Amino acid sequence: MSPAIGPAGSQGPANRIALLGQEPDGLRAVLGADLESWGEPGYRLAQLVRWIEEHRARSFDEMTDLPAGLRSRLADRFSLGEARAAFEARSEDGTIKHLWRLSDGIQVESVLIPTAHRVTLCLSSQAGCALGCRFCATGELGFTRQLSAAEIVEQFRNSDRISSEAFERPIGNVVYMGMGEPFANAGPVFESLTILHRGFGVGARRITVSTVGLVPGIRMLGERPEPFRLAVSLHAADSALRAELMPVERKYPLDELMEAVRDYQARKSRRVSFEYAMIAGLNDSVALARALVQRLEGIASYVNLIPYNPIPGRDWGPSPPDRIDAFVSVLEAGGVPTAVRTPRGRDIAAACGQLRLERALSGQTD
Ligand code: SAH
Ligand code: SF4
Repeated sequence: MSPAIGPAGSQGPANRIALLGQEPDGLRAVLGADLESWGEPGYRLAQLVRWIEEHRARSFDEMTDLPAGLRSRLADRFSLGEARAAFEARSEDGTIKHLWRLSDGIQVESVLIPTAHRVTLCLSSQAGCALGCRFCATGELGFTRQLSAAEIVEQFRNSDRISSEAFERPIGNVVYMGMGEPFANAGPVFESLTILHRGFGVGARRITVSTVGLVPGIRMLGERPEPFRLAVSLHAADSALRAELMPVERKYPLDELMEAVRDYQARKSRRVSFEYAMIAGLNDSVALARALVQRLEGIASYVNLIPYNPIPGRDWGPSPPDRIDAFVSVLEAGGVPTAVRTPRGRDIAAACGQLRLERALSGQTD
């Protein structure tokens, strides 16, 4: 169990302004106005912003070069995040998973995944998810509520501090692949992209948004000027099979989805990743690999094959290595760059929504 993270002591008034949810210009405007009305010298704003954006401060108390009176005034009016680490698990392979308890008690998870050269943070965009993909632990839990931009950014802020302590390096990549569907919470998610990129300095190419295939969201991401990366969860190149696995296929069928991906690519000239969970005997045949090659024709793509991570309540299993090899051979022969993603943190249920589901099923709520 890890110590509580966030400002110590009382929560203070509930209507404090959440600074982590402010885009960089708004942050400066909102802080600047109060500092000025309190008669603070002009350099205070830059000092404060540096604490938030560069030092990832979790409380005003940390800002030791500010007068104590000002710190308490700020703490009365503004919030730097309310989440507490309700649970922390460290895997044998280095992966660190957190369950964050938000101010209303709802829990969401994020995962830090160290590789040889960088640390990737996988964060949540919603509490639960309404899209009901049949292979997904988060889908199984259903939808609880949207996260605010501040609650999304706070996962990053807290995790970055932990990354620096545990791995001696800051977070290098951010992927929106935790709980929830980013484009079903588009407003706060797009705000959080701006804040992470322009406020906290994460390169746009180092941020990937993974979607189940919500076409309007793909179009919105395509309209952004920054080169954020797009990942699309495909899981089947055959529409009927995809509809069985993913109800969203009925709303945005593959033809329409792939058209949106093509338009995105025409605008951005960026390679698009496709996620494909390999479920034994279900979507892993050579014929389906051929269908996938066909679907991806003319798209600069990259396919991530993920051996399906079994979830409680389904008797599906991951595809065995020879099925995966045969699938990969077809994709490679078809000129589609492919990687088989090594499952990380299996011992701590680090896949999307899994820890939350396991704890819910076993009656552990915090
Ligand atoms: N809602 C978004 C992002 C969160 S899910 C999306 O669906 O893309 C992140 C990724 O994990 C998705 O590619 C999803 O399909 C995949 N995933 C979910 N459950 C899985 C499981 N049990 N095994 C393997 N991959 C899974
Ligand atoms: Fe939601 Fe993504 Fe899980 Fe589907 S895979 S239920 S969209 S979180």
